[in-house]
Amino acid sequence: MARPVSYNLINKPLEADISIAEMPEGHQGEGFFATKLNWAIGLARKNSIWPLPFATSCCGIEFMATMGSHYDLARFGSERVGFSPRQCDLLMVMGTIAKKMGPVLKQVYLQMAEPRWVMAVGACASSGGIFDTYSVLQGIDQVIPVDVYVPGCPPRPEAIIDGVLKIQSLVEKESLRRRNSPQYKALLESYGIQ
Ligand code: SF4
Repeated sequence: MARPVSYNLINKPLEADISIAEMPEGHQGEGFFATKLNWAIGLARKNSIWPLPFATSCCGIEFMATMGSHYDLARFGSERVGFSPRQCDLLMVMGTIAKKMGPVLKQVYLQMAEPRWVMAVGACASSGGIFDTYSVLQGIDQVIPVDVYVPGCPPRPEAIIDGVLKIQSLVEKESLRRRNSPQYKALLESYGIQ
């Protein structure tokens, strides 16, 4: 006997579920819209961040949930997870990083092209967490610069999404010249990066 088929139909127009990216400030008239190049590029970059998950322990499981259909990171344009640093612009470090892993993490960071951003997900990546021991790095910012820290042990997927939104707002507002600025070069030099 054939099983009854049911459809998950909601009685509202489809457009109600579609949100359109907010347009940047600018001037518009009939047939034209003018804005700053910085803002147009920021809009595109913000909505197409490609993450590289560097997951070493439990926080990585929360990231898996974040990528699943329930939380659905694709809503923010970040479903394209990459495992080649050369094709990613957001390094997400999730889990305990042993001191031995520090140079490996730094190498992965160096293989990413500019502009690149870094998110420390969870207490371990941010500060070593509960592992105040001789073998564990007390925060990845000892080896690479970090843009956003997500607290929690582990952080729930909502917290990870909040971190991604914070990264998005940094990406959106970043000046195209920032990566050539003396301040940014000094920051990299403080990590021994030329
Ligand atoms: S912060 Fe907690 S959950 Fe995340 S890797 Fe460390 S011990 Fe595991």
